[in-house]
Amino acid sequence: MSAGHQAMRCKQELLSNWGNFPRIEAEVCYPTCADDVRKEVLRCERVIARGNGRCYGDASLGTHVISMLGLNRVRHFDPCQGVIEVEAGVLLDQILDYVVPAGWFFHVTPGTRFITVGGAIACDVHGKNHPQKGCFSNWLLDFELLKADGSTVRCSRQENSELFWQTCGGMGWTGIILSARIQLMRINSIWLRQRVVKAPNLEALLLAFEAHRAWPYAVAWLDGLSRGGNLGRSLLFLSEHTEGSVSESLAFPRRKAFTVPPYAPSFLLNPVTIRAYNHFRFASAQEGERLIDLEACFYPLDRLRLWNRLYGRRGFIQYQFCLPETHAAQGMNQVLTLSHQQGIVPFLCVVKRHGDRPPEAVHSFPERGYSLALDFPRTSKLFSLIQQLDEVVWQLGGKIYLAKDVCSAPKLSRIYPQHFAPDKFWSLMRERLQHADDYQKKS
Ligand SMILES: Cc1cc2nc3c(=O)[nH]c(=O)nc-3n(C[C@H](O)[C@H](O)[C@H](O)COP(=O)(O)OP(=O)(O)OC[C@H]3O[C@@H](n4cnc5c(N)ncnc54)[C@H](O)[C@@H]3O)c2cc1C
Repeated sequence: MSAGHQAMRCKQELLSNWGNFPRIEAEVCYPTCADDVRKEVLRCERVIARGNGRCYGDASLGTHVISMLGLNRVRHFDPCQGVIEVEAGVLLDQILDYVVPAGWFFHVTPGTRFITVGGAIACDVHGKNHPQKGCFSNWLLDFELLKADGSTVRCSRQENSELFWQTCGGMGWTGIILSARIQLMRINSIWLRQRVVKAPNLEALLLAFEAHRAWPYAVAWLDGLSRGGNLGRSLLFLSEHTEGSVSESLAFPRRKAFTVPPYAPSFLLNPVTIRAYNHFRFASAQEGERLIDLEACFYPLDRLRLWNRLYGRRGFIQYQFCLPETHAAQGMNQVLTLSHQQGIVPFLCVVKRHGDRPPEAVHSFPERGYSLALDFPRTSKLFSLIQQLDEVVWQLGGKIYLAKDVCSAPKLSRIYPQHFAPDKFWSLMRERLQHADDYQKKS
């Protein structure tokens, strides 16, 4: 928990986020203290904060980027109240080693623990328990924000509350989050009870989500290649924390991870191998219950480090949209059918159920209903497919998730970058959404 200041590094880099597209030349600075961040903000005309680059598209890319990874100190942890205060570049992964042994976990966590707290706030991330627990902002007590003029303000529900809500899900456009205090959730065990339910098609999946709504966590893997009567066949994973025993020692379980080598051959992932894998996964899945630990339940993908490399140099695009309950079946059906008709199939599909959005959380992605996330390898035909998917989602009153976006129509996000003042905090995404017409002409 000590603060050690080093001279700030700045260098030109070829930068991309998790989808490896787009890849741009950027000047990246690596401050290790708030003062250096302030100097950079004052020195540059336009900057954007970057966490760990785990958003998929262009949200933390820009010509001038401030990497927050060097602000990585845990300032204080209160093991009685379960409140932790950290600098914004701290990874969720780092927090787990402090809090799990003391019997605490996150109320809300996304599907990877390799994201920073600043990134979690700026995208207002959600987990598999949105109906019960909302987004990351629901459990955020307050944060320090560095503004364009170099001043720092504390934001909470009571203090500077408008700025608080603009910043949660505000994609870094209000300023730079320097530190935050988060309320954690009590756990007595690292074990969860998990039930697997097989759903032969999309309708059955949505019914299963409804029937099991009492489970705290629910997420479905969907076979994006199945068609006809099997369209949308899925495995629904439900889970809940167990009580544990007094003798259980609590530590975040860390299995040996495998790292995908650079430039892994992208031919490994193709419609034939994915079809075979999906068929095997669905057919071999056993319904029933078992015990799984925190890592297996919340972060299964993290075991294969840098799995994004499997998509090769061209990268991939995740298209995640949310639809109201009443239109979810129709919309997901249309989206999957359109992708099949055009011969562009998603390699990984995930469905989640969402609850009501608090009215103050103006920029949070989830709305009451369902979201579907589809991973598509990037091909030239994909952009025109996404335009068509956008139209389906728009017509049915849905929206897309900016944390994953790279080419959707600006209206789909239902966030208007031009309403954010000032213009200092500027990313490629902001440029794309704010100046959609000019941008499309240029590209
Ligand atoms: C495998 C995987 C699974 C995922 N699962 C989920 C999920 O279940 N739910 C979900 O909601 N998301 C999920 N995501 C997306 C991810 O959680 C978010 O994109 C998250 O914001 C990434 O955080 P980051 O630290 O990597 O930030 P970056 O990706 O670097 O940046 C994301 C945004 O935050 C801004 N930002 C970062 N730091 C700061 C700061 N200090 N101050 C101001 N702005 C800042 C950036 O400008 C950018 O707009 C997943 C991503 C991956 C790779």
